[in-house]
Amino acid sequence: MDVADKLNLQNINITSDFWERYRELVVKEVLPYQWKVMNDEADISISTDPQNNGRDKNSHAVANLKIAAGKAKGHHYGFPFQDTDVYKWLEAAAYSFNYHPDTDLRKITDRLIDLISEAQDDDGYLSTYFQIDAPERKFKRLQQSHELYTMGHYIEAGVAYYQATGNQKALDIATRMADCIDDHFGLEDGKIPGYDGHPEIELALSRLYEETGNKKYLKLAHYFLKQRGQDPSFFEKQDRADGWDNEILQGMRDLPRSYYQAAEPIKDQKTADGHAVRVVYLCTGMAYVARYTGDKDLLESCRRFWNDIVRRRMYITGNIGSTTTGEAFTYDYDLPNDTMYGETCASVGMAFFARQMLNIEAKGEYGDILEKELFNGALSGMALDGKHFFYVNPLEADPAASKGNPGKSHVLTHRADWFGCACCPANLARLITSIDQYLYTVNDNTILSHQFIANEAKFGNNIKVIQANNFPWDGAIHYKIQNPSHTSFKFGIRIPTWSKKFTLEVNGIAKSIPVQDGFVYLNIDDQAASIDLNLDMSVKLMRASNRVNADFEKSAVQRGPIVYAAEQADNQGPLWLYQLSPKSKADYHFNEKLLKGVGIIKITASREALDNDNAPLYTEEKQTNTESVELTLIPYYSWANRENGQMRVWFNKE
Ligand SMILES: [Zn+2]
Repeated sequence: MDVADKLNLQNINITSDFWERYRELVVKEVLPYQWKVMNDEADISISTDPQNNGRDKNSHAVANLKIAAGKAKGHHYGFPFQDTDVYKWLEAAAYSFNYHPDTDLRKITDRLIDLISEAQDDDGYLSTYFQIDAPERKFKRLQQSHELYTMGHYIEAGVAYYQATGNQKALDIATRMADCIDDHFGLEDGKIPGYDGHPEIELALSRLYEETGNKKYLKLAHYFLKQRGQDPSFFEKQDRADGWDNEILQGMRDLPRSYYQAAEPIKDQKTADGHAVRVVYLCTGMAYVARYTGDKDLLESCRRFWNDIVRRRMYITGNIGSTTTGEAFTYDYDLPNDTMYGETCASVGMAFFARQMLNIEAKGEYGDILEKELFNGALSGMALDGKHFFYVNPLEADPAASKGNPGKSHVLTHRADWFGCACCPANLARLITSIDQYLYTVNDNTILSHQFIANEAKFGNNIKVIQANNFPWDGAIHYKIQNPSHTSFKFGIRIPTWSKKFTLEVNGIAKSIPVQDGFVYLNIDDQAASIDLNLDMSVKLMRASNRVNADFEKSAVQRGPIVYAAEQADNQGPLWLYQLSPKSKADYHFNEKLLKGVGIIKITASREALDNDNAPLYTEEKQTNTESVELTLIPYYSWANRENGQMRVWFNKE
């Protein structure tokens, strides 16, 4: 046993008020609600939402599994990857058992495992669309089929469910699936020299390898990553053989190869291009495999993609994907606020990627971005009631624009009940129920605490870390470390980039410790230690690099990790008339009654008087009338929980 094994995280309880509310919400509202939706028992209609994709039924996801299992008759309904809604929900439920055991839910999930097992083919294959309606096309159109994506999501769920409950059948389904994929894919004679159009299987196989220790699965994940883009025309060749016009998802054959990250081998891809969710799922798989295999090219690619996304293609809220066309990245510094995409899944996937990069190297930057997603870009995907969801997360929205401009019709100003393509709701649910797995990283002889989400954690050698705070509203972070066996280890605490100023006390004595790559390190060998970290929670006016056209001469407001937004519910519109200046005075207070309890910022601003509606559209430049006003800001994640109105993150500078 090496030292790292001795320090392994064994058990963790979240005690943060902020996250406990969300975790209880998922258990009480989100999981039951989503289960009803997937069983077509919820009283909702998706047909009015822009992301319904022309669908009229709500889900049919469980029914598809029943038909594949021979327990019901009928056709498959929905997307070829409809099964994944069920799997992500199952995974979210599995994590919830770690903090909220529920025998009723457990009966449902155990029965669901039985159903999935019955739906699985004898050879391990499971994708209900192909089993029910197109068995002759299995693995024949990987560009569009999502078969490995779908099975990857089950593998993740199966591993999580096995880990939470010990249900062997759940794990067996996963290994049989992976064995089936291994039988069909590879460079050996008779196998398919290809890969899936939607990355996911790479990270799923890595998780299966972690659980089983079976190197075959790691090798297969590595194969998929090395093979991607080696033959850039692989998808087209398959499409032609399968019937060029016989598309599974209309129009997908016409998307550029870069949409699928398949235009060239990963090591030659210079920038993060294409469908944003595909990119971050791919990156997560790359980071897993790079760590376990030591593949240097792959690690280099992880860092290259990371830098491109974080330094040139990410919104201040952590959202990614600058265009609705292909739900994709565009080009460096192209970050329009009102036509953007910013899919919830892409932020969830970015959190996955950040977590894996932290497992590779102790850099505070990864913790910063993880925190940014958790408190902003990902979290905004769900309403405070747990029953409404965003697919697209804009930084500037106007109901009139969403209604009247087709180029903005994908931007909702209210969260929807559900979606025709319902990838986001359960993805966010599984992130929230597994948030305990995102707080610490153990590397060598070091425990890294990179998130300030209050918790009590037990590590090997009876080490206990109790972190208490009222984050994200308060920057006082208190740690109590119990170390009864006097184990000697390093304890690293991330100093967020938003807190250049901070104070640190250990056992009541002020310490001045240099920050190394975003962390301060303390040597722990005593029986107990008490650490007090005070982070800078002052309200900050933020600017974007002036390479970003959309944000030039604009300011956003941030306090701690929380990016703020103004809504029409608090401020007289239009919101674009408000201007901030470096002299703006900000007042922060916590309002426990508003939006389930949020920190509110009131900041002095100037507002130009609105022209009369009968004034000419264009006149010569003149002195405008402005008045001093107070702009009220709420956390970005909590917008669109009141009346429907404008929202804005970036404001013109005075
Ligand atoms: Zn999504």
